[in-house]
Amino acid sequence: MNNITLAPVQPDQPSHLMPVFGRQSISFVRGRGSYLYTEDGTEYFDALTGIAVCGLGHAHPVIAQAIADQAATLIHTSNLYEVPWQTAAAQKLAEVSGMEEIFFSNSGAESNEGAIKIARKFGSMQGISHPKIIVADHSFHGRTMATLSATGNKKVQEGFGPLVEGFIRVPFGDIEAIQEAAINHPDIVAIFVEPIQGEGGVNTAPQGFSYLEEIRQVCNQHNWLMMLDEVQTGNGRTGQYFAYQHTNIVPDVLTTAKGLGNGFPIGAVMTQGRGVGVLTAGNHGSTYSGTALGSRVVYTVIDLIQKENLVENAAKMGAYIVEQLRQQLSDQEITVRGFGLMIGIELPKGCAELVNTARDEYHLIINVTAGSVIRLLPTLNINKEQADLLIERLVKMIKAFLA
Ligand SMILES: *Cc1c(COP(=O)(O)O)cnc(C)c1O
Repeated sequence: MNNITLAPVQPDQPSHLMPVFGRQSISFVRGRGSYLYTEDGTEYFDALTGIAVCGLGHAHPVIAQAIADQAATLIHTSNLYEVPWQTAAAQKLAEVSGMEEIFFSNSGAESNEGAIKIARKFGSMQGISHPKIIVADHSFHGRTMATLSATGNKKVQEGFGPLVEGFIRVPFGDIEAIQEAAINHPDIVAIFVEPIQGEGGVNTAPQGFSYLEEIRQVCNQHNWLMMLDEVQTGNGRTGQYFAYQHTNIVPDVLTTAKGLGNGFPIGAVMTQGRGVGVLTAGNHGSTYSGTALGSRVVYTVIDLIQKENLVENAAKMGAYIVEQLRQQLSDQEITVRGFGLMIGIELPKGCAELVNTARDEYHLIINVTAGSVIRLLPTLNINKEQADLLIERLVKMIKAFLA
């Protein structure tokens, strides 16, 4: 095992890191399953899992072994050659996603860049010179130029103009606004939304998942691509393998990342139906697309999610946590929204400081999004005992905070 110890950074030493993150002053040096540990061995329950990334838990022995084996065998050759693990990973992902063609990327934003390129090429193939994509208010699609332009959050865009053009924004859930856009803009080629807005506060549209069915209908009517950003909601998180599977429709383009590699940076853009065959040789690429190492991780993660029935567990434990929180906090002015293990607790006031309170007083790692929503994204293999521990700490903390 690795026995290299890092010398502690002195307070007067520059970190040399670009200061783009608002970091908490704590660092974890080790993890196991749902738990994180600081250098002195203090244990924290991780209900955030690196923001819906480490769904199988930290330091999963099977994934650690797969990474070690593959690293000692072959990490990368390039897409100049066949990559057997890439094909195996694509077959697995096609099986669970219902998609036909898959391109592996290295992050969520990069997967979404792929989707945006597919939409534009789809337009270009029909002779549309300035294709437009409908996107939603309060959405989050990433930090690259095209994805921050698609994002419905001014703070993400401020200072980075000129933005990438070609996006039409509508209120999330407003199907009439989409119909209206169709009348005003003959050059629309796609709609791109999240099934559940994660950064936006763990929200479905007001009409729930039937919004997706309405979008599917409009896309069929106008020959548009239906594109879903499942970077956060994918990979078992919501109690279906992909959140769209809560409905009877299938999107043409589907993106994912976060939970796909359990911490190994990898994403995917996938197509079926109208999305198939749009990108062809020379249209897209990435040096690191589907390396042997990354692909083996994806294969292993999906295999584990299947064999351990973790999608079912996410549905079951998510429902239990939501029910318990609603019951035990029924005298509080809160709203609990839950989709499998993607859970938001909306408080009646801003509660950003609860991140620190939870960590320091309850040894609980959570996140607050959209100002007043506690966001929980625990491991997909959480058991009842751990769920009870999470519920107990949350209930105590929320009651104290709102008292
Ligand atoms: C996190 C996230 C992204 C961006 O993913 P990165 O890997 O950070 O680039 C895009 N869309 C959604 C819905 C996300 O939650």
